[in-house]
Amino acid sequence: MTGRIAAYLRAHAHRFARELAELVAFASVSSSPAAAPQLRRCANWLVRQLRQLGARDARLIATAGSPVVVARIGDDPRRPSVLIYGHYDVQPAEPVSAWRTPPFAPVVRGGYLHGRGASDAKGQLFAHLKAIEMLRALTGQLPVNVVFLIEGEEEIGSPHLPDLLGELAPYLASTAAVVSDNAVLALDRPSITYALRGDLYLDVEISGGFPELHSGNFGGAVHNALRVLVAALARLHRPTGAVALPGFSDRVVATAAPERAFMRSVGPSDRELGDEVGHRPLTASRAFSAYERSTIRPSIELVGVLGGYTGRGIRGVIPSRAEAKLDVRLVPDQRPDDVHRAIFDQLARAVPLGFELRTRERMRAAPVVLDRRHPVARAAQRAYRRGFSAEPVFVRAGGSIPIVSLLGEALRVPVVLMGFALPDDRAHGADERFSLAMLGKAVATSAAFLEEVAR
Ligand SMILES: [Zn+2]
Repeated sequence: MTGRIAAYLRAHAHRFARELAELVAFASVSSSPAAAPQLRRCANWLVRQLRQLGARDARLIATAGSPVVVARIGDDPRRPSVLIYGHYDVQPAEPVSAWRTPPFAPVVRGGYLHGRGASDAKGQLFAHLKAIEMLRALTGQLPVNVVFLIEGEEEIGSPHLPDLLGELAPYLASTAAVVSDNAVLALDRPSITYALRGDLYLDVEISGGFPELHSGNFGGAVHNALRVLVAALARLHRPTGAVALPGFSDRVVATAAPERAFMRSVGPSDRELGDEVGHRPLTASRAFSAYERSTIRPSIELVGVLGGYTGRGIRGVIPSRAEAKLDVRLVPDQRPDDVHRAIFDQLARAVPLGFELRTRERMRAAPVVLDRRHPVARAAQRAYRRGFSAEPVFVRAGGSIPIVSLLGEALRVPVVLMGFALPDDRAHGADERFSLAMLGKAVATSAAFLEEVAR
């Protein structure tokens, strides 16, 4: 960080915190229909900020849900364009009684701004706005054209964004896209997440359509939907925890040896990962480390089972239907349709005649990998180095951020994850917070990124 940038951040730190508090004060809870006016007010606040930054065309685009904010700053065809994606909606704050201070009355305490959405993701989006403000103040111009796409439905799965992306593609055309909606390792340990697994979330149901039966009178004589479900689910894994589904990994692209060596050099060892998960026993594999099993290998997790009598005390009844939820994490080049079919077929082998097996897809997201040597990844690396005065670590994540694959596919643009949250920001939880020290580093990093992309 240069002296001029540090001086600017110091001089404006109080105003930055005050403006971020204004943004966090909107109770923009996308899952609550009653919050629609707050969502709209929050979107209009962003439009005003963007106009002040020189985006004369900043505007709301109506959808069947919350409006989307778009804006463009600069239109020089000789310069690269950077798309900055953000979301202004937040998770519900309930239970409000768990908060030390009200979730939508932001306060600064101990160097953090506290409030729902401070970290996920208003603080991260705000850093980009202030980076543009700072570049214009210090240099009089921007090194690139910038396009903003800020939605208000991320926390409910962005139901209206895919259609809109098609319509807006020419307006959003860009050289690189930035998504800031994830965490770095620590305030002094920046990181760039360059790979995410895809997601396929399935509801599974076994039903017979018969009435429930007395488990004494009929126990042993008839099939039990819950037992059938459990037997079917047991066919998905081996006792080691490895997936036992035939064909599941057939299309998985083998990770090259140098990449695996790189992962070993920067990623957690099995012991470190074990510490991180509170010494819960790890699944076993001779071929892959735990870090590899949760990033470059696909997984099937049983995340819910519902059936039979689950109340207190005793009720002896043979269930006629039962349900489960499966969260499947995908890697390149698995095909979600093939995986879904293979799971269905494997479960079906355990289902006796007279029972019906049904599966229903609840969510789907494609896996994402941005080559660490891609120029955009390199630009992000140099930007973090400048903004944090520390070397960023390239990490893979086992989770999924659907918007990343959505943007990449709809706009055919490399997407770089430039997160500015911290692992202990308590995103989605009570007393969510955003570090003001992080805000300064994030503003500097975002500004450096726009300069580095222009090189
Ligand atoms: Zn978020």
